[in-house]
Amino acid sequence: MAEVFPTVKLLDYPKDPLAVIYVAYRTCYSSLPPHVIRRRIEEGKISREAMLEFLERWLPTGHGSPKQQVNFTFGLSGMSRITSHQFVRHHVGIVFDQQSQRYVEFKGADFPYIIPSTWVKAGMVDRYVTLMAQAAQLYQDALAAGIPGEDARYVLPHSAATNIQFTVNFEEILHIADQRLCTRAQWEIRHFWAKVRGEVGKAVPELKKFIQPKCGQYRLGYCDETLGDYQKCPLSRIRPHKSMIPNRPPAAKPPDAGGEELNSPAPDGMESASRPDSV
Ligand SMILES: Cc1cc2nc3c(=O)[nH]c(=O)nc-3n(C[C@H](O)[C@H](O)[C@H](O)COP(=O)(O)OP(=O)(O)OC[C@H]3O[C@@H](n4cnc5c(N)ncnc54)[C@H](O)[C@@H]3O)c2cc1C
Repeated sequence: MAEVFPTVKLLDYPKDPLAVIYVAYRTCYSSLPPHVIRRRIEEGKISREAMLEFLERWLPTGHGSPKQQVNFTFGLSGMSRITSHQFVRHHVGIVFDQQSQRYVEFKGADFPYIIPSTWVKAGMVDRYVTLMAQAAQLYQDALAAGIPGEDARYVLPHSAATNIQFTVNFEEILHIADQRLCTRAQWEIRHFWAKVRGEVGKAVPELKKFIQPKCGQYRLGYCDETLGDYQKCPLSRIRPHKSMIPNRPPAAKPPDAGGEELNSPAPDGMESASRPDSV
């Protein structure tokens, strides 16, 4: 077993996430009921392009609940316990079930673990692997001596790999991307969330571009980290720092209430309603 590599698979998601999010937004601003708007999508009266164009303007706004109507379920394996500890700090709009080290015992004086590439580059990987083998042997000896798995595991290092199934809504996918695609996040969780983005992109290509670090054009549009961190980041070549934007305008300018977008003809010829003040 020993060294393992991360795998992320999208296991389940709604039939048409784009339509679910679109209908949620449209329901707020239209006299039509949601099932009629959905039927218009299914009849081809509202095109994918029209929905996407609409969402490009609405997704970056503070109207977040439509993004919470879509859930994605993922299976992941080969993540270190270091990174799973970081990952499970996210708690809004996401739920986890993680392999137990109390109930699952690793057999054969071996356990799966992650090796950071920095150990390989430093020429110290042999010592790393030796230490893992010693920990695995001690763990095995502890089990053989009758120490229960939940206590034997105290000798397992943070590098031990874990498996998680998690379900997360699209708003939280965007929020986690804000933090974890940012180069301030550690490499393992960054690579992992990039895989999540890849899986969403395979299933719903239209949604992929919205999954960005917080400096992306559909998110803040600028870096809000310290100037020192900004200067170290490769994205500083294409994205401004907050100190360069005195008034910090929103990344994408949404239409205001009753503004141009909502008063313009709806893409499907559907009635376009002004945004009610009470919502
Ligand atoms: C680069 C980096 C370094 C970090 N370093 C540390 C560290 O040194 N030590 C440490 O302990 N943690 C650290 N963290 C973890 C961090 O503080 C958060 O706990 C973690 O990223 C989860 O994010 P979140 O709070 O946005 O939670 P999420 O569950 O993803 O929350 C989503 C959003 O919901 C809202 N929200 C969530 N909970 C509440 C609440 N209780 N009340 C009101 N609104 C809420 C917030 O707007 C929040 O942004 C670090 C994270 C990053 C990205």
